[in-house]
Amino acid sequence: MVDWKCKECGYTMKADLPPEKCPSCKKKCEFVDVSCYIPDCGKTGQDPRLA
Ligand SMILES: [Zn+2]
Repeated sequence: MVDWKCKECGYTMKADLPPEKCPSCKKKCEFVDVSCYIPDCGKTGQDPRLA
């Protein structure tokens, strides 16, 4: 699973692939991978530099 973040509204979700449309903006948004691959990101699993 990957953490995806909508570039438009900042909505985040976990999925294997980014959604076609953002469930929050209901538009075709660009999603960025904000998953954390290092242990220090804590509970969220998201990279604080990106999320
Ligand atoms: Zn959005």
